[in-house]
Amino acid sequence: MKRKAIFFDRDGVVNFRIVGKYIKSAEDFRFVPDFIKFFKNIKSAAYLTILTTNQQGIGKGLMTEKELEIVHGYMQSKLKELTGSNFDDIYYSTELAENNSFRRKPNPGMLLEAIEKWDIDIENSWMIGDRKSDVTAGKRAGLKTVLLKPAKNGDFPNADYVFRNLDEVFTNLFSKLK
Ligand SMILES: [Mg+2]
Repeated sequence: MKRKAIFFDRDGVVNFRIVGKYIKSAEDFRFVPDFIKFFKNIKSAAYLTILTTNQQGIGKGLMTEKELEIVHGYMQSKLKELTGSNFDDIYYSTELAENNSFRRKPNPGMLLEAIEKWDIDIENSWMIGDRKSDVTAGKRAGLKTVLLKPAKNGDFPNADYVFRNLDEVFTNLFSKLK
């Protein structure tokens, strides 16, 4: 049987973004409190959880793949400690934006890889992000999309839902699902 999944963008959704800086160490990685609560709740509703993150800092030579893996190792062990589970899979793209790689969001490559590997039920699965590129990638992969409203007002992409934070996402979209 196909499985339902929630795809998460990382920076600005799972952890706080640091403006103008890449998250290069565990000290820089701070969980958004709403995320922890949300993650616990959707795990108990049996969703697969897949992280998809653009990390062109590696392509630019500003951080190494090893540093990214250390950050993700910290994230996974902390999540396990706080919620009892962690991401089922992690996908990242190191390519530069200008190369327009099929794996880098707004393109759907990372999402499609996960959909194939995990035999994901697209129609009952979601992409949650805080950028237009997350929404576009989710749409291109055939997922339902949620945009967490960015701090800056501006053009809102064609997301299926827009909420201010993950508490609102849970209350409105997931609280009745088990
Ligand atoms: Mg983001």
